[in-house]
Amino acid sequence: MPHDLPKAYEPGAIESRWAEYWIKEKLFSVPTPAANPAGEGARATPVFTLLLPPPNVTGNLHMGHMFEQTQMDIIVRWHRMRGFLTLWLPGTDHAGIATQLMVERQLATEGKKRRDMGREKFIERVWEWKKQYGGNITDQMKRLGASVDWDREYFTMDENLSRAVREVFVRLYEEGLIYRGKYIVNWCPRCETAISDLEVKHEDVPGKLWEIRYPVVDSALPADGQPGAAVPTQFITVATTRPETMLGDTAVAVNKNDQRYTHLHGKKVLLPLMEREIPIITDELAQPEFGTGAVKVTPAHDPNDFQAGLRHGLPQIEVMDENARMNQNAGKYAGLDRYEARKQVIADLKARNFLVGTKDHTIPLGKCDRCGTVVEPRLSTQWFIKIAPMALRAADAVRSSEITIEPENNRQIFLNWMDNIHDWCISRQLWWGHRIPAWHCGCGEIIVARETPAKCSKCGKSELTQDRDVLDTWFSSGLLPFTTLGWPDRTRDLEVFYPTALMITGFDILFFWLARMIMFGCHFMQGNQQDPAIKAASGWNDRKDDAVPFRRVYIHALVRDADRQKMSKTKGNVVDPLDVVARYGTDAVRFTLAAMAAPGTDIAFNESRTEGYRNFANKIWNAARFMFMNVDRLSPDLKPGLPVLAGCSPAGCKLVFQATTLEDRWILSRFNRTTREVNEALGTFRFHEASNRIYDFFWGEFCDWYLELIKPRLNSSSDAQQACANLVNLFEASLRLLHPVMPFITEEIWHAMHDGKPPLKSLAFAGYPQVNDSQIDLTAETNMAILQDLIVNIRNLRAELRAEPRAKLPIQVCFHDEQTRILIFQNRVALEQLANVSEITEVDQVAASQAPTRGTTRFDVRVIYERRVDVAAECERLKKELEKIEKETANNQRQLGNEQFLAKAPANVVEGMRKRGAELVVLRDKSLAQMKELDCK
Ligand SMILES: [Zn+2]
Ligand SMILES: [Zn+2]
Repeated sequence: MPHDLPKAYEPGAIESRWAEYWIKEKLFSVPTPAANPAGEGARATPVFTLLLPPPNVTGNLHMGHMFEQTQMDIIVRWHRMRGFLTLWLPGTDHAGIATQLMVERQLATEGKKRRDMGREKFIERVWEWKKQYGGNITDQMKRLGASVDWDREYFTMDENLSRAVREVFVRLYEEGLIYRGKYIVNWCPRCETAISDLEVKHEDVPGKLWEIRYPVVDSALPADGQPGAAVPTQFITVATTRPETMLGDTAVAVNKNDQRYTHLHGKKVLLPLMEREIPIITDELAQPEFGTGAVKVTPAHDPNDFQAGLRHGLPQIEVMDENARMNQNAGKYAGLDRYEARKQVIADLKARNFLVGTKDHTIPLGKCDRCGTVVEPRLSTQWFIKIAPMALRAADAVRSSEITIEPENNRQIFLNWMDNIHDWCISRQLWWGHRIPAWHCGCGEIIVARETPAKCSKCGKSELTQDRDVLDTWFSSGLLPFTTLGWPDRTRDLEVFYPTALMITGFDILFFWLARMIMFGCHFMQGNQQDPAIKAASGWNDRKDDAVPFRRVYIHALVRDADRQKMSKTKGNVVDPLDVVARYGTDAVRFTLAAMAAPGTDIAFNESRTEGYRNFANKIWNAARFMFMNVDRLSPDLKPGLPVLAGCSPAGCKLVFQATTLEDRWILSRFNRTTREVNEALGTFRFHEASNRIYDFFWGEFCDWYLELIKPRLNSSSDAQQACANLVNLFEASLRLLHPVMPFITEEIWHAMHDGKPPLKSLAFAGYPQVNDSQIDLTAETNMAILQDLIVNIRNLRAELRAEPRAKLPIQVCFHDEQTRILIFQNRVALEQLANVSEITEVDQVAASQAPTRGTTRFDVRVIYERRVDVAAECERLKKELEKIEKETANNQRQLGNEQFLAKAPANVVEGMRKRGAELVVLRDKSLAQMKELDCK
């Protein structure tokens, strides 16, 4: 086993080398599997499929991605190592608005505009942009070692996926689930497109509520019989936060039960500024208890007014254009921006005495999630999906646990949302995206088709124009679980890999994406059956419905900064994962994220933890070098083979792990216990428990104790070979245990162990350790605990006596039971080595009077040590120490006596200072006592 692990652990070099190797060797590519093995007893391979939530093609990898992908990669590698045919399917999303914005910005730097270029040229430009920059985020993923199948990488605008999108649209249209209509949508005047409710960010801002009075028609007393000079005597007062919309009012509504207005039913008001007569209607839109009980109705500019307008057949007057400028319907205000128009309208109302009052009012302002522009409710013709029938089936799938959602509280949130879902506006007024497969004819006919139609199906004319809109990005991404596997064709891939086993994603896209995947999956894959042999082998026989896009959903938490603040560019607290990776290595960052990933709890990312896990990697590295050094010292025919514990056992293996001593039985038992706990934790997404258990075992038990305990045997002539074999075997198994969390360092050491001739191309294919209950040994664990207890106590005593570290010292022990006595004498070598003991003297009682002792229920112990002391030097040291203590005491008391400080300081700080104060008193007494003992002057 000659191997050349460099002295220092340098993650950078190791990691890029393996990341490249995994891709070059196509290790994680999963070709379509052929039919299952035939014959009696033949068992199909279990399958595990996971779809990567596709990052936006415009994106760069941020901490959220890395956190999500770390969890996925751990689960994926864990399944692969347990013998699952594991497909992790990557891709990127064309991200309609985001990408279009990006390219528009690029054009702006060249002084060009999208509209001047024309649609075709612009789309070409976007594809060019995609070719140049679209691979950024996947390159970053590659560097971080995500074990995805790059051969199956997709882009949501790929031809095969686009074909599936058209197919879905046409089918839904034919089923009557897609309709086109004029509705109020959320409109971004900057992006010039409709956006979904989910893409609107709401923010409470201070604003105004203006009260305007509308004169009631015919309520005037004619003055001198001249109608024109009439002075109205009755008004209805309405309130609004958007006064400019009054220009489009087509009614005033009152509640039919509101006594105040009964006499006005059936009358009209004269809309101020526009001099338009509009009816007073009775509608539930008006609530007597709110404001004056009367409301203005603007069907073209408010969703509730729109519905009221439909109920009463009111005209819909649009007064703004797509950029939120007033249009010709706004009379003299035409051409003004909405906010300029607002000022002007207020001024005019005031001048003509229609403005009754102005109040401060908090407004829930909706802003475009992409560009931050205030969204304007706007009437426009859009395509919609009638969502209720699909939502019903999706909710059923979750209710009946055909799909399980974890953590559990997300399940209820999901169900509540599905029960209150609105029709989904799927059209977007963008150029970049899947264009709606509908063609308009001059005769008014709309033809929805899979391929461009040659002529109108109604009038036969051939001048057809395709609908200008594209589909909402989430429309195509909602189809990915089946379209990426070949749908609408019936493929072997679908049979094998669908339903996918798991979806790991964040809460923020629960509705955007997850809900849509479930709705589309349940609808389009209805009646689907997974290959029964594979389904059984994969452990899904308890699930009946194979239409669902995934069997399990795990909603992960968020990564925040070290102070638990949300990371945001404006706050400037964004931690760039690639930057942290450059400093500590991918393995250490992955371990940090995993070790903090308790389900349902946001992570406060703290670099000091990452530094700690880099030290952990370093510890493993040094342990490996220690192992290699020992193996190298053995003559070739004494060298152990590899590997032996559960998992792979290639031919040529020379020596298996044999538990001959207490430490062997103990470490084997601990290893199995850890293995069991780690497997259980990974099965329930308790990544933090899995990684912390591995950490405690590898560092705390394997490195700190086992390596030390077998050192004497490695140096003995009779036992070296078996001790070395045990060490190598256990090390190899521990690497397998750790591999899903730290894939790089484990791969590096494992290849070194096999001297470049590994039995498999990668540790990623070695078996994941599984518990062997017969190797769990309670007696060994109890005995080892006693031995460790004694060693730790001796070490503490030595520290207290300030014994020279290398000095071997005799001890006195009083055993309280025979079993402990035998145990300690059997393991006296361990004691001598690990606690630097020269001689063990058994006594009936450890005299406590002369020197410090330690005791437990099983033993009392004392270290015999007489220090030769340079009295003058020691007195000098003690004097200095005392001065320091007194200075700190003074400081401590001053602060604790300062009322101002006490009022301001956090409680835990004050508490800490009080504790320290008490400690200082003890330390001072100790120093004084020592000085007295030495007769210091
Ligand atoms: Zn916008
Ligand atoms: Zn026609």
